[in-house]
Amino acid sequence: MTNLSLKPYISEEQIQQKVKELGQTLTKKFKGEKVVAVCVLKGSFMFYSDLVRAIDADITCEFFGVASYHGGTSSSGEVKVTLDLASPVEGKHVVLVEDIVDTGLTMNYLKGSILSRNPKSLTTIALLEKPEALKVECQLDHVGFKIPNDFVVGYGLDYQGYYRNLPYIAQVQNFQ
Ligand code: 5GP
Repeated sequence: MTNLSLKPYISEEQIQQKVKELGQTLTKKFKGEKVVAVCVLKGSFMFYSDLVRAIDADITCEFFGVASYHGGTSSSGEVKVTLDLASPVEGKHVVLVEDIVDTGLTMNYLKGSILSRNPKSLTTIALLEKPEALKVECQLDHVGFKIPNDFVVGYGLDYQGYYRNLPYIAQVQNFQ
C-alpha cells in the first residue's frame, strides 16, 4: 500500500510560493473584513492550514467533511457529507478551500450547499484543477495549479488513506 512508486510532480517550494501568492490575493480582497474560511476535509487540511496563515484578515475556521472517492482512484460522482459546518454562515464572507477539482461534482455540490445558507459572498479556491477531467461546468475564483488528468497524492491528497503527509505532490506510477 505505502510502497507505491511516486514521481515528484509539484515541489514543496513551488507549493509554498503559490500559497504565498494566493494568500496575498485573498488579503487584498478581504483586508479589514471578517471571513469564514471553510476547509473541505480531508484532502484540503494541509493547503488550508498554510493558506489561512498567509491571509491577513479576521478569519474564523470551519470544517466541511465530504467523501467522494471512497478510497479508489476515480470519482464515484457521489458526495457523502461526513461533517457539516458547525456554525451558520448567513451574511458572512465565505472562502471555500478545496484540494483538487476533478470532475467538478464535489465543488458544485459544496457551492450549492454554502449558497443555500445565504452567505454575504462566496469565494472558491482550489489548489489543483484538472480541466480535462471536468464533467460539469465548475467556475472557480482562484486556482493554484492546473494539472493533466493524472492521479496525484501528497500535501493532503491520499491514495487509500495514505500519502497525505507528504509535503509535496507526486504522481503515482504503479497502482496495484
Ligand atoms: P470531483 O468531485 O471534482 O471529481 O472530485 C473531487 C475530490 O476527488 C477531491 O476533493 C479529492 O478528494 C478527490 N480527487 C480528485 N482527483 C484526485 C487525485 O488526483 N488524487 C487524489 N488523491 N484525490 C483526488
